[in-house]
Amino acid sequence: MTQARVALITGAARGIGLGIARRLVEGGWQVVLADRDAPACERAAAHLGEASTAIPLDVRDEAAIRDLARTLEARYEGLDGLVNNAGVADPCCGPIETLELERWNQWIETNLTGPFLMCKHTLPLLRSRRGAIVHIGSTRALQSEPHTESYAASKGGLAAFTHALAVSAGPEVRVNAIHPGWIDTRPETERRNKPLRPVDHRQHPVGRVGEPADVAALAAFLLGPEAGFITGQAWAVDGGMTRRMIYAE
Ligand code: NDP
Repeated sequence: MTQARVALITGAARGIGLGIARRLVEGGWQVVLADRDAPACERAAAHLGEASTAIPLDVRDEAAIRDLARTLEARYEGLDGLVNNAGVADPCCGPIETLELERWNQWIETNLTGPFLMCKHTLPLLRSRRGAIVHIGSTRALQSEPHTESYAASKGGLAAFTHALAVSAGPEVRVNAIHPGWIDTRPETERRNKPLRPVDHRQHPVGRVGEPADVAALAAFLLGPEAGFITGQAWAVDGGMTRRMIYAE
C-alpha cells in the first residue's frame, strides 16, 4: 500500500483553510490542521475524520513552529504539501496617519512573517519528499480600497516572497500563490440570516461570490503532480473581478 501524501495547512479551523483541508482529504491526503483556535481546530479535525489531525499553532511563534516541524518529521518523515493560509483576514486598518506601528505589525507578522517562519522550518521536510507550497494571498496584493495598506502590503510581500522562494527552493520544492477575491466564509446560519445581495453576486463576471471550495480546487491542483511544471506563479481566484474595469458613472 502506498503511503498517503501529507499536507500541513495553517488557519485550517474554518473558512478557506478548512475548505482546502476538506478537499485534500477527499483526494486521499493526510492533513494536519494547524490553527491558533485550538478547540475549533479539534472540532474541524473530528469532522474531517481519521485522515486529519489538529495541532494548536500560532504562526507568529517560531519556537512552536520548530517543535511542530520536529513532530512532523518523527510522525511522517517528511511533508508533501504546505499551505500557508492563516491570516488576519480583515483588510481594514484605518487611515495611515493614525495607524499605530503595533497595529500595522499585526497584519505583517501573521500574513507575511508567519509564512516565512513556516517555510523556514518545514523546507527540509518538503525537500525530502519533493513537495509543494501554496500561499494564500489576496487580490488586494493587486488592487485596493482606501485604508487597507497594512493588509495589502502583507499580501504583496507574500506574492514577492512566493517567487523568490520558488527560485531558491527548486528543483525539489515548487512554490505558488493563490490570490482569492471575495470568498464567503461565513457560517451557514449567518448566511441564511443575512444573505448576500443580488448585486454582490452580479458584479462578478462569473455571476457569483466565491466559496472556499473554489480556492481549494486550485490549491489541490497546485500541490499535486499535474502542476509539476508550475512554480513561482500567482493565480487570482476572484470570479474575474481583477479583470473588470470600473469607471465612475
Ligand atoms: P478566517 O478568519 O475565516 O480563518 C482564518 C483562520 O486562521 C482562523 O481560524 C484564525 O483564527 C486563524 N489564524 C489567524 N491568525 C493566526 C495565527 N497567527 N496563527 C494561526 N492561526 C491563525 O479567514 P478566511 O478563511 O476568510 O481567510 C483565510 C486566508 O485567505 C487569509 O490569509 C485571508 O487573508 C485570505 N483571503 C480571504 C479572503 C476572503 O474573502 N475570505 C479573500 C482574500 C484572501 P482566529 O479566528 O482566532 O483569528
